[in-house]
This record gives sequence, structure tokens and C-alpha cells, in this order.
Amino acid sequence: MLIISAEEFSLWKEKQILKGGDHQSLNLLIDLLGGLSKNEFNLLKIKSEKKLKLKINLDILESFWNKHLETCIPIQYLSGSSYWRDLKLEVSNKVLIPRTETELVIEIISERFKNKEEKITFVDLGTGSGAIGIALALAYPNWNGLATDIDKNAVEIASRNFTKNSNQSNLEFYDGNWWNALENFKGEIDLAIANPPYIPQCTYEELPLEVKNFEPKCALFGGEDGLDHIKEIIQNAPSYLKEKGLLLVENHFDQGERVKQLFLKNRFTEVNVLKDFAGIGRFTIGRYK
Ligand code: GLN
Repeated sequence: MLIISAEEFSLWKEKQILKGGDHQSLNLLIDLLGGLSKNEFNLLKIKSEKKLKLKINLDILESFWNKHLETCIPIQYLSGSSYWRDLKLEVSNKVLIPRTETELVIEIISERFKNKEEKITFVDLGTGSGAIGIALALAYPNWNGLATDIDKNAVEIASRNFTKNSNQSNLEFYDGNWWNALENFKGEIDLAIANPPYIPQCTYEELPLEVKNFEPKCALFGGEDGLDHIKEIIQNAPSYLKEKGLLLVENHFDQGERVKQLFLKNRFTEVNVLKDFAGIGRFTIGRYK
């Protein structure tokens, strides 16, 4: 634990940002590793006492910042944690850092399921850190959730994240590729959600180093046109969904129309491409028959 003045800390921050990087990453580092959020810091600056507490000393914090600048390693992997909606999730390089645009999935689902008393079974396919599954299980205590991932490490991380963020027991974790772990739930799923890897080959090669060198390729790369996994998920969905069950898939910025056609080809109805905060057709949703 370190106690220093807000002035001294401001000077330290200025020195760090002169070396490179951006304010958002530095603030995230101070928050996730130093235990001081940007809001807390701003509040302290206007208080008379102007002393602040950090979980680690400035030399150590600086060495993490240097490592980020030298290698481009994401702050979330350096600290082993990430914010997503109101959750703080453990992450490692075995799971994708949950993205802001994906947060909207929870709003889309909340719009469609206003009655919280209803009991349904949902699945989060390729759960990674567990973000989507955990947020839904928390928002709908009556729902029975299943979360799958091909990577055992991810399943362990997601499961720990659920335990840390909840005292509920309405989310179970399974190790397997997409639907494969769910043989026992065939025809029983009311709602399935997936944020699968969908980055096409040419885009993958051009990804920022921060993403390409550190985040798991298996969570990002979707084959030549990016649609390999989305196709597999949609094609197998009819065996697992209930009649009238919903499937929601996140896709790349330009895949909406193609994903919609895949839904229609597999006998989905009421298929819609929904926009994210940036106005991009980011989510495709459809009802099975
Ligand atoms: N939205 C992520 C990105 O652009 C990709 C996530 C994914 O492939 N599902 O980095």
C-alpha cells in the first residue's frame, strides 16, 4: 500500500504518458493494478486532503506501464482482469478480452425478455471469460444457463468468474466445441447466444499488435471469409433449439446480410440484423421456425 499526494501522482502520470501510450490505457492500468479508478482520482483532486492510496508502489506500476509500451501487451492481460458492464472479470491470454460492443447483447435480450419470472434455458456458446453467460444468469435468476468453451482453461476462468461475481447457481459450464457439449440438452434450448471468432483471414493479418500478438487466435479467426464458426453454429442450432427458440450471433461489421441469409437457409424466421453503438449491423438474431 502506498499513500502519496495527488500532485505527486499527477506528475508521475504526466511522466508516463510522455513515454507513449494513451490516457485510457494508463488510467486502466492505474485502476486495475493500482486499485485507483479515474473517478476516485478526480474526486480526490478536488478534496482538501489530496492524499491517495495505491495498492502497489509507483516503481512497480511504472514497470508494468513500460512493459505495455515495449510489447503492446494489453493492460487487461498484465493485470489479469477486465471490466465488462458492471462485472470485473478475471482474464488471461487464453480468453478474449470482452469487448464493449458485446455489452449490448444484454440489452437486446432484456428487451425481448421483459418477464423475469419466466423460466427458460439459455446457452452462451464459446463463453471465453464468461461475460455474456454470467451477466444473463445474474440478470435472470430464474433462468437456467449453460456456458460452453472449446478451451478447458477458458471454462475454468469463466467458472471462477461466475463464483466471484455471484452467489447463484444457475449457470453451468461445459468444455466442448460450440454445441458438442450439449448432447443432453437437444431440443431444450430457448435461447442461444454466441460471440464466435469471425475475423476474416485478410483482416486478421492486419489486426493491431495488441490484439494479434496476445489474444487467442481461436477466439478471433473465423477462416477465409470469417464465417466458418458462425456457419457451424447456425447449421447445428436446429438440433438444440426448441421450436421458436432464439439464436443471437455477433458478427463482423460487414457480415450482417450474409449471416442473415445463413439463418434463413437453415429455416429460421423473424431474422434481423441489429446495430451496435457505432451503427454497425453487429448482431443477427432469428427464431427457429
Ligand atoms: N470484436 C472483436 C475484435 O474486433 C472480435 C471478436 C470476435 O471475433 N468474436 O477484435
